Amino acid sequence: VTTLIDDPIARVLGELHERLRHDYRGEVSASIPTLANADHKLFGLAVCSPDGFVSEAGDVDVEFSVQSISKAFTYALALSDRGREAVHEHVGAEPSGEAFSAISLEEETGRPDNPMINAGALVTCALVGGEDAREKFARIRSLMEAAAGRTLGFDETVYEEEQAASDRNRALAHFMRSAGSLTDEVDPTMEVYLRQCSVLVTTRDLAIMGATLARGGINPVTGDRVFSGEVARHVLTVMATCGMYDYSGEWLLTVGTPAKSGVSGGLITASPGQFGMGLFSPKLDARGNSVRGVAASQDLAERFQLHALTLP
Ligand code: GLU
Repeated sequence: VTTLIDDPIARVLGELHERLRHDYRGEVSASIPTLANADHKLFGLAVCSPDGFVSEAGDVDVEFSVQSISKAFTYALALSDRGREAVHEHVGAEPSGEAFSAISLEEETGRPDNPMINAGALVTCALVGGEDAREKFARIRSLMEAAAGRTLGFDETVYEEEQAASDRNRALAHFMRSAGSLTDEVDPTMEVYLRQCSVLVTTRDLAIMGATLARGGINPVTGDRVFSGEVARHVLTVMATCGMYDYSGEWLLTVGTPAKSGVSGGLITASPGQFGMGLFSPKLDARGNSVRGVAASQDLAERFQLHALTLP
């Protein structure tokens, strides 16, 4: 990873960090003990340019569980393995307007609304190619590693805590199996999904992963192609409409970049052809998005004109 010595973007990130680190609004997630005990003062911001330069400020090296941000990459893998049509037989591409853990399935088909909510993510996990849960998870992890350009850790404690707190997701999985949209058994599907949530990333990783999406599937740091341009476009589209839980519509209005957030306080954005951004700050707003992450993104999107629908 290359950083510039006199870097104007890093200066902006540093100023934003200084200004927003005093914003203590929101609450850390209470969903599992590790997240409930997270250090709420942590705050990292990183931007990766299309040619792989990384600018950063704050706690960009601190590792946290990737949680729901993994959903974007599992969706990319399912699309690469099966193609768009086969995937869309099982999971839709409509914003649900409901919380991420909502039990909302299409009446006629039993499909969950989209792959960025839990129900849809469980279905995409089942669609990923592989003999068993171990192989499917290994493939998802490798894809995230290729997008980040390094080997990623795994938090065994988070995984065990997620398993212990998985009643609702498990119920969703059973429900979708009876509706026909979940094609695999419940237990292995839960294992793949909860393991992918427990992969460890840093804010810098998220910026590079975002830039990989923004560059149409090519990691700008390593130069490796991670998925096709077509897959990147599908993933970015669904991130744009569904990536920020039930704040996705307003996010598109005020920030306007494809994005995905997670319950640990991570946030990834990808401006097509331009930057990838990683943000991390554990305190969440009522919709489950990082308070400082959203505030910083709004500022940066305005400053650098990142809105996907910016007019000439
Ligand atoms: N492991 C969490 C769950 O499924 C992830 C949720 C999230 O990041 O939104 O409940």
